[in-house]
Amino acid sequence: MGFKDECGVVGIYGATGSQNEPSNAASLSYFALVSLQHRGQESAGIAVSNGEKIVLKKEMGLVGDIFTQKDFEHLKGNISVAHVRYATAGGRTIENAQPFLNSFKLGSIALAHNGQLVNHAQIRAMLEDYGYTFSSTSDSEVILKLIVRKFTENGGKLGRPKHSASQASDVTLSDEDTKKRFIEAVIQALKEVKGSFALCIMTEDMLIGVRDPNGIRPLCMGSVNGGYILASESCAIDAVNGEFVRDIAPGEVVVINKNGLSSCKIEEKPVKKTCIFEYVYFARPDSVIDKIPVQEARYRMGQALALESPVEADCVVGVPDSGIGAAMGFSKASGIPFVTGIIKNKYIGRTFIAPTQKERENMVFVKLNAIKSDLNGKRVVVIDDSIVRGTTSRRLVQILRRAGAKEVHFRVSSPPVKFPCHLGIDTPSKNELISSTHELEEIRREIGADTLAFISLSGMRKALGESGFCEGCFSGEYPV
Ligand code: AMP
Repeated sequence: MGFKDECGVVGIYGATGSQNEPSNAASLSYFALVSLQHRGQESAGIAVSNGEKIVLKKEMGLVGDIFTQKDFEHLKGNISVAHVRYATAGGRTIENAQPFLNSFKLGSIALAHNGQLVNHAQIRAMLEDYGYTFSSTSDSEVILKLIVRKFTENGGKLGRPKHSASQASDVTLSDEDTKKRFIEAVIQALKEVKGSFALCIMTEDMLIGVRDPNGIRPLCMGSVNGGYILASESCAIDAVNGEFVRDIAPGEVVVINKNGLSSCKIEEKPVKKTCIFEYVYFARPDSVIDKIPVQEARYRMGQALALESPVEADCVVGVPDSGIGAAMGFSKASGIPFVTGIIKNKYIGRTFIAPTQKERENMVFVKLNAIKSDLNGKRVVVIDDSIVRGTTSRRLVQILRRAGAKEVHFRVSSPPVKFPCHLGIDTPSKNELISSTHELEEIRREIGADTLAFISLSGMRKALGESGFCEGCFSGEYPV
């Protein structure tokens, strides 16, 4: 398994169309998902409620390939949750694609999850003992079934009454008291699951957004056409021409229904530990996470790197896309001119899609190429955001030398990745992480660079300007 991306989630509530027509939450979700495609390319799905019924479409593949014009005729309604997936826990099959939808006699819940639980196996076993069955191997389905369990345990029933008049007084989710109990069930369930989770959950008439007590995965909220949007990254709010409102706080549960928005907590004293790798690699540079603009953070990491590990050179290049911000910062701090130098093929998937190490290595030649006229005869500083296995950097040095670079000085804008992640990033095992098995000088030799330096963890923290991050991949210390 490769060191892979995670997932992206979206929730829409009650947005109206431009002519005050009830709008299709599905199309807003679609545009938001396209802008979160970088967070997962294996499968995508949208669940929509028209107030009475939730319908769902999910498939393997890219958002733009999955949904056709015709789909939007069926995906009608103004509440939705949506998801793009890159497998972490659970295999790459359609059964594990999200959102998950659970329909009951009296209603339905759909759920989209970004993150990874650490105690899903125990909870799943407990639920199976109660007679619950699972259609997937995904930890996200465990959350959904646990919510159902907590709700039914409390005597609740979901959805609109569809029974005879004598039973119509039956509790339903449009019933205020039942709504309260449903939200209570969500909170109870989320107190039991441990790990990372940013969630968008919907019933027929309510949208709920949740961030785990450490806020490991990002989730933010915006307004769009008089309604609400929840999304993993703010770039999705921009994509629907919405307005950013705020980040969901660690441990916060926001509930949006016809009464408006309310907020409660899973835990009284949450401790923020947002995944630092969001800023290094995952997030799009145009996103702002927890008030930190991603591009600015990368720029400052590059500046810090230039001050920590200066080098005499003629030009600075960044490895597209996530190395560009740091390269510009490095250039600014060092005074060495920034040149484009490296071009990335826009139409190729992640190098990690190639199954064998040999193929992965050769994929780099297809993905990246150097611009000879920028580099020929020059001493080049090349900045990448991370070295994981060392595959990309080894090939990159070759590519730069082939283009005539006289010297290649490799600078990395994150510290050495030494530990696998169990909180949503599918890292290779420890012995595949080059920084876990090799010393700095050995890595330099392995990748064939003239010099090599990583940013220090303290330099990176300073660049971010705040504390409160999960730095487990660098330090081995995880919040859960
Ligand atoms: P490697 O080739 O294994 O050393 O991976 C490092 C390269 O992959 C860098 O160019 C990173 O920008 C990129 N990268 C880092 N993390 C990930 C990830 N989770 N998925 C895909 N690419 C990544």
